[in-house]
Amino acid sequence: TDFAVLGLSEPILKAVAAKGYSSPSPIQLQCIPAVLAGHDVMAAAQTGTGKTAGFTLPMLERLRHGPHARAGVVRALVLTPTRELAAQVADSVTAYGRYLDLRSDVVFGGVSANPQMQRLRKGADVLVATPGRLMDLHQQNALRLDRVEILVLDEADRMLDMGFIRDIRRILSLMPAKRQNLLFSATFSSEIRRLATGLLHNPVQLQA
Ligand code: AMP
Repeated sequence: TDFAVLGLSEPILKAVAAKGYSSPSPIQLQCIPAVLAGHDVMAAAQTGTGKTAGFTLPMLERLRHGPHARAGVVRALVLTPTRELAAQVADSVTAYGRYLDLRSDVVFGGVSANPQMQRLRKGADVLVATPGRLMDLHQQNALRLDRVEILVLDEADRMLDMGFIRDIRRILSLMPAKRQNLLFSATFSSEIRRLATGLLHNPVQLQA
């Protein structure tokens, strides 16, 4: 099976080809059409399954069709547990979006917030962030989350293990109710299921 049959457009297929991928992984085969169709998704997927492209490719495809981000506005938010994962996901967004005219950004803790605040003024079609730093930046009025169209929780189990549930719940309360939600987790504890129940509407359930 080829990526072309999944409904991705030429600039994205070109970026995938540049990465050297010949065929989609199982999670990508399931996830890409579901996200393109606008469904919420709950996916059991570990690192190494190709989950990042699984959500990034169709997210970029959907974003390229809407009006691009204005100043201060975020259109798609990807939350990750660690700065390492945030940087990695942001690199993927850059690579897969290289032929698109979308603005992406990444923010995480442990580094100065000032340059992040400066950059966020321009807005972002895709913002990759760790929850704590995102909340800090929001409290400083560095960004708005009331226009988020797509939310991705990546490695949700690790975010809960790291104690981010309060930040996540506050972040959820700042976003419009009408949006697409994608939840990726290696494991599904009762705490994850509780989060998923409140977050996801008729989710397509996938297994890598
Ligand atoms: P992930 O599970 O998202 O961390 O991805 C694991 C690795 O697989 C990354 O290095 C990707 O670049 C690579 N990858 C993702 N999708 C594919 C694919 N369809 N074919 C080959 N490699 C892939």
